[in-house]
Amino acid sequence: MPPAIRIEKIVRSRRRSIAIEVTPQATLIVRAPHRVSQAHIDTLIREKSAWIHKKFDEVKQRPQAIVHQYGEGEIFWFLGRQYPLHYVDDGRTTIGRTDRLLVPRAFQPEVRHHIRRWYRQEAVSEIGSRCMYFSMMTGYSPASVRISDAKQRWGSCTSRGGLNFSWRLIQAPLEIVDYVIVHELVHLRQMDHSPKFWKKVEELMPDYARRRKWLRENERLLRM
Ligand SMILES: [Zn+2]
Repeated sequence: MPPAIRIEKIVRSRRRSIAIEVTPQATLIVRAPHRVSQAHIDTLIREKSAWIHKKFDEVKQRPQAIVHQYGEGEIFWFLGRQYPLHYVDDGRTTIGRTDRLLVPRAFQPEVRHHIRRWYRQEAVSEIGSRCMYFSMMTGYSPASVRISDAKQRWGSCTSRGGLNFSWRLIQAPLEIVDYVIVHELVHLRQMDHSPKFWKKVEELMPDYARRRKWLRENERLLRM
């Protein structure tokens, strides 16, 4: 028998039907109308258990978060490509990127700090210039663009019209970075995720759904 299905939480609202959502952590969130009984929810979950377990398996097969040990040869992602870490003693004082990530050996033992700082600097210039490009294309101009340390929110938009992007996003392919930028730029005009919002995103980026899907399925790759 498959293991019991754990319900993370049940969200009650004025909705009319029950919806089951599988989280990236392979747990369940159930959205239900106020008057539906617990027993009814349990029955439904039993009925749907085969489908739920299939979804759990799918989620578990997605890429796992990388835990870096900062050893020679370890893979670091940058704009969707893999760069093995390589320590060098050539007198350089900054991190370089060829087909490998070249890190001065003198940066040990604070390698983690230096690599994060490098990612951040790269994010500032890369995301900054992509943002400027899309801003010119769309005519939507943010009041400011900041690079944040957010762990899961790749992009966000403030009520004052500023955009924030996590430096971690710079690990993703450029087309994914572009999607997050366009998404946030559209929020400057449309703060919610209404059909109107998605229609605008689609106008600017007809294949946005594919990029959004990539981000959902690979988000653990970007955690660091
Ligand atoms: Zn959004």
